[in-house]
Amino acid sequence: MTRFIFITGGVVSSLGKGLASAALGSLLQTRGFKVRLRKLDPYLNIDPGTMSPTQHGEVFVTDDGAETDLDLGHYERFTGVSARRTDNITTGRIYSDILAKERRGDYLGATVQVIPHVTDEIKAFIRSDIGDADFLLCEIGGTVGDIESLPFLEAIRQFGNEVGSANALFIHVTLVPYLPAAGELKTKPTQHSVKELLSVGIQPSMLLCRSDMPIPPDQRRKIALFCNILPERVIAALDVPSIYQVPISYSEQGFDEQVLSYFGIEAPPPDLKRWRGIVDRVQHPEGEVTIAIVGKYTSLLDSYKSLAEALTHGGIANNVRVKLQWLDSEIFERPDYPYGVIHHLESAHAILVPGGFGNRGTEGMIRAAQFARERSVPYLGICFGMQMAVIEAARHMAGLKGAGSSEFGECEHPIVGLMTEWVRGNELEQRTNSGDLGGTMRLGAYPCLLGEDTRARSIYGAAEISERHRHRYEVNINYRSALEDAGLRFSGLSPDGQLPEIVEIPHHPWFVGVQFHPELKSKPFEPHPLFASYIEAAMHHSRLV
Ligand code: GLN
Repeated sequence: MTRFIFITGGVVSSLGKGLASAALGSLLQTRGFKVRLRKLDPYLNIDPGTMSPTQHGEVFVTDDGAETDLDLGHYERFTGVSARRTDNITTGRIYSDILAKERRGDYLGATVQVIPHVTDEIKAFIRSDIGDADFLLCEIGGTVGDIESLPFLEAIRQFGNEVGSANALFIHVTLVPYLPAAGELKTKPTQHSVKELLSVGIQPSMLLCRSDMPIPPDQRRKIALFCNILPERVIAALDVPSIYQVPISYSEQGFDEQVLSYFGIEAPPPDLKRWRGIVDRVQHPEGEVTIAIVGKYTSLLDSYKSLAEALTHGGIANNVRVKLQWLDSEIFERPDYPYGVIHHLESAHAILVPGGFGNRGTEGMIRAAQFARERSVPYLGICFGMQMAVIEAARHMAGLKGAGSSEFGECEHPIVGLMTEWVRGNELEQRTNSGDLGGTMRLGAYPCLLGEDTRARSIYGAAEISERHRHRYEVNINYRSALEDAGLRFSGLSPDGQLPEIVEIPHHPWFVGVQFHPELKSKPFEPHPLFASYIEAAMHHSRLV
């Protein structure tokens, strides 16, 4: 039987609901339970795929090719459970499904309304594809009180009634701020937020109170009294220096214990050994390497959430701290290049060019790749970063001066071009230049074959791998021999040999470009081999080893 845990947020946004949900999922796992985590997002986009990364943060791609909220990345990294298409839904998706049904005449003449049609659709989504999970954790995006959250709150209220309070728990995450002028922590915003939730018929049974200092027992009792919650279920969620401390810290405050006690379930205590091991490695590194990340969405670091995590995991694998230096690629396009800015690259132990879209800043990325290649600095190019490295190699190694990407318009040598069709399993997928932007890229997991005697093969220790994709353009296979003759090896290809997946330069300490997003599959307990190897190369470059 599956129990349902709904997690809402109040007072302010960015309270770390996603991390709290991921941490609770992991804690329940360590006590022997199977979990699934899900996110309901109230915005009107069908999915985050078309949203700017600098507004919404990274788009997390699942194996089954869904473009989802970045919180699903936290869920996967903390629990190891692969997220699926059925784990993230938005208002836009719900309405688009309802409107399609309405046009088909599925509602048989009924007036289509928020209650019951929208709420029914939300409840059906919550209930679908749960499998044998003991707990389904369902996070509601946004903040209580937002207009667009209302149908979701109404749906989970109804859901709670339908499955009964013995099977559904509502957890509300709030903020207890410290007011220096008053010299105390303030509980009023939490009281108001719970009132807001009560006004839509939801009485939370547990509060997770974020605070930057310990909440004294008196204050917790006060919150409990005013919010009609048992004092032991008012959990103090203190800020911690590393996200890997969250499960340990919340567990010490009784988070998982109180969840189980709410459901009347007894279970062995949580096994926090793994988390303690990770925290220990993060807190006591044996050295430090600096990675220069030359990208275009550096104004909002959430745009590269999984990437930053994966690099940290690479550090965990090698027992070093990984310092990230975020550089806007446009600085390398300044007329005074290299004099004004080259030191940014010279001080790094490795260079990384991440994913991206559009022309802006690309010449700067190409310069960063060239610097790494010529100066023998370890280089990892991810997706766009691979494409830019291949263009650089075409221009400066193979002498194809007019090399470019058709993403930026016509060019003499379209080294990177639009894929109009490709094979997925038994199906042919097709795209055109004028098609929709949303959901039409090459998305999700695809197999890749690794060539013999390649760095890629030795890093992965396998001949076939599967990695997640999110891109419209591909390195043009027609230039393979020109580029290989010039010294760029195509070390990973799609099984039909048509889509270049990995390139590398054999005569370079560590130069790898990958068309997929390895960062999406890295986990603290299982650092991705590419990142582990890349950080090791950075350590060599810094002479740490
Ligand atoms: N803009 C490139 C493409 O669509 C790369 C995308 C990416 O880096 N995710 O192919």
